Amino acid sequence: MNNRTEKRNPSVRIIPLGGMEQIGMNMTAFEYADSMIIVDVGMSFPTDDMLGIDLVIPDFTYVENNIDKLKGVFITHGHEDHIGALPYFLKNFGQTTVYATRLTQGIIDGKLEEHGLSETAKRQTVRFGDVIKAGDFSVEFIKTNHSIADAAALAIKSPAGTIIHTGDFKIDYTPVFGDMADLQRFAQLGKEGVLAMLCDSTNATREGFTPSERTVGETFETIFAENKNRRIIVATFASNVDRVQQIINTSCRYDRKVVVEGRSMVNIIGKASELGYISIPEGTLIDVDQLKDYPPEKTTLITTGSQGESMAALSRMAASLHRKVTIMPGDLVVFSSNPIPGNEKSVSKVINELEQKGASVINYHTHVSGHACQEEIKLLYSLVRPQFAIPVHGEFHHRQAQAKVVESLGIPKENIFMLNSGDVLELSKEKAEVVSQVTHGGVLVDGLGVGDVGNIVLRDRQTLAQDGILIVVLTLEKYTNQLLAGPDIVSRGFVYIRESENLMDEAQQVVSDAVFECLDSRVTDWSRIKNVIRDDLGSFLWKKMKRSPMILPIIMEVE
Ligand SMILES: [Zn+2]
Repeated sequence: MNNRTEKRNPSVRIIPLGGMEQIGMNMTAFEYADSMIIVDVGMSFPTDDMLGIDLVIPDFTYVENNIDKLKGVFITHGHEDHIGALPYFLKNFGQTTVYATRLTQGIIDGKLEEHGLSETAKRQTVRFGDVIKAGDFSVEFIKTNHSIADAAALAIKSPAGTIIHTGDFKIDYTPVFGDMADLQRFAQLGKEGVLAMLCDSTNATREGFTPSERTVGETFETIFAENKNRRIIVATFASNVDRVQQIINTSCRYDRKVVVEGRSMVNIIGKASELGYISIPEGTLIDVDQLKDYPPEKTTLITTGSQGESMAALSRMAASLHRKVTIMPGDLVVFSSNPIPGNEKSVSKVINELEQKGASVINYHTHVSGHACQEEIKLLYSLVRPQFAIPVHGEFHHRQAQAKVVESLGIPKENIFMLNSGDVLELSKEKAEVVSQVTHGGVLVDGLGVGDVGNIVLRDRQTLAQDGILIVVLTLEKYTNQLLAGPDIVSRGFVYIRESENLMDEAQQVVSDAVFECLDSRVTDWSRIKNVIRDDLGSFLWKKMKRSPMILPIIMEVE
């Protein structure tokens, strides 16, 4: 491209650094000339094969290589899949400012405090309608609705045109807290001309409209009216402040005291009430220790654990591992959530345990989604009328569903981009195309280690978990290479030794034969001896058991 065309068609680059192949790890870079901004820095949860991994964060290499361009980080809302990797990001790039609305900033504060970053990290709280200058970009926060208050869409302006990033959103005409999504602003921007829109695809496979959060309040009303003689325990997402508000409102109407249980729930509700996003009538909240002072039917517990997470409060109550709350016959447990795909088994385990203890469980009609269904997606596209459409936030299947919806609105197929993480989409008013790929991927976090667990460590963990380990120990004399002791075999997670003596004796014989063969043929290279042990014992065990445990030969040397 020569300089003249560059001037006539300035182009902007959109680079998703995560979030395209899965739900979670949302992070996108926007670049124009020498300016770069980042939208969201989310984490994702490990998949089943990532043994021992706590969380997964995006690879920051691309940001690191372009750090001079970075003009700011903009956060759409306070969910983990949008802010969870922020502490790790700020540990590396602490000089940048994080822009977010008030509740989002409050939740980020709590997170940074845990990581010892609250003193150093630069943050600026933004109100809806504010426009932040960031190099060649200016970014406006626009009000949307979602399952957490203060969610924002972003209008990102550059000399190449306006790009709208919806963040996670739904359109709620009767929100529990605050205003409905600012559809007028979307329409205005649409009239002025929008180059591209990145739009939430999570619910794009579903027809119709997502119901208002208020409909859940009506369901609670019925449940509380029909269960006046029972203690009610409601499990929901810690961050769904509006849901908690409705449970508290209904509890008050039925003259019940409320206990909030579970660390993340206590943290977020504390923050929300400090910032005025939830109003709790004086004297409603009681401490979990005070539960015994009230008749059970005059209490409500709001708790974490709606996804069956084994360490969450509800799961501990169900398994009789909670120190302060035991499930009693007659309790009513309401799951105010849908299991996130993959969590169904853990949820049904908890439900079984609850019912075995005599509790009744309700897990339907007590949740609405925070994401837009097809009709809301259509509405937003019709208002914004972007030239290019980029479905985001979701697996391929969800994004594909949005692409179909968008096509039905008359946006030409070639203007709809199904991006992969790492793609560099360059766009101007004349054209848009993927021009290259940058480094991207998931970095595994285990305890305090970031990225130190890679494929090799994971493969070892999988082998250990699936087939166990055999350790072969033998002692050789240093100069003569004579066998002084062993070989002995120690195993863990392989077979129960006491019931498999024959097998272990045979295994020991196989190892002895292997060692003597090496020594007789004067093999002095220990790594060769170890390899022969590994190969011979490995193929013996495979023949006998069809198992491939990890085999770890250890040779000790005595002078
Ligand atoms: Zn969200």
